[in-house]
Amino acid sequence: MTQQKLLIVEDEEALARGLRFNFEHEGYEVLLAGDGERALQLFQETDPRCDLIILDLMLPGMSGYEICRKIRELDELVPILVLSARTLSEDKTMAFDCGTDQYMTKPFALPELLSRVRNLLDRHSRIPGQNQPNNGDTCEFGEVHVDFARYEIRVGEQVFEPTKTEMDLLRYFVHHDGRVLSRQEILTHVWGMDANVTTRTIDNFVMRLRKFIEKNPSDPAFLLSVRGTGYRFVSNGKSAEVSENDSDSETD
Ligand code: CA
Repeated sequence: MTQQKLLIVEDEEALARGLRFNFEHEGYEVLLAGDGERALQLFQETDPRCDLIILDLMLPGMSGYEICRKIRELDELVPILVLSARTLSEDKTMAFDCGTDQYMTKPFALPELLSRVRNLLDRHSRIPGQNQPNNGDTCEFGEVHVDFARYEIRVGEQVFEPTKTEMDLLRYFVHHDGRVLSRQEILTHVWGMDANVTTRTIDNFVMRLRKFIEKNPSDPAFLLSVRGTGYRFVSNGKSAEVSENDSDSETD
């Protein structure tokens, strides 16, 4: 079994180090972030992703609530445990409203924290699609075989080695099979909130992905354009769809 990875967001250095020490002792890999910006950066850049996040609320800059909300935009499922000195019911409610799974108040008992983390990870690993090797990090559609962990796309005898961003984009499409995705949505989720790229960048990346996965990139079967909106990935191929006869067909 691969080592599970925790992201601890805590600005109190001594506490952060103490937590890291204890979780490493339990066999986890631990990433530390002292503020929200670093936390989001680590969360997005770490591949494969962190398995669980331990989140302080009172942090310099971005609050824990906001971090929680932003992480939920990127990942609906990753378990988040808030560890905070705030004990008011309103604080807990707000944290849960932002997508927190569990809330623990400081000071805390270490065995309880370890136990809660184990429990969350155990439940999370039983969510379908989360317990395959590499978190189900492969997929197949048509003759295309994608290995997200190895950054590899195979089509018959051909093997392509896409970049990380190309893989992230393809993963996002695959995870939203059949759904129309706006350029803005794609930008936010794949490139991050404040990324310095335009929607035109997405079009270029889609063109590159089509060269990997489509037999005829100018008449795509899987990665379809939705005029005026963005794109839609269909793993069954567009022939399985009702009368979608060109790459620019209007869909809603
Ligand atoms: Ca703090």
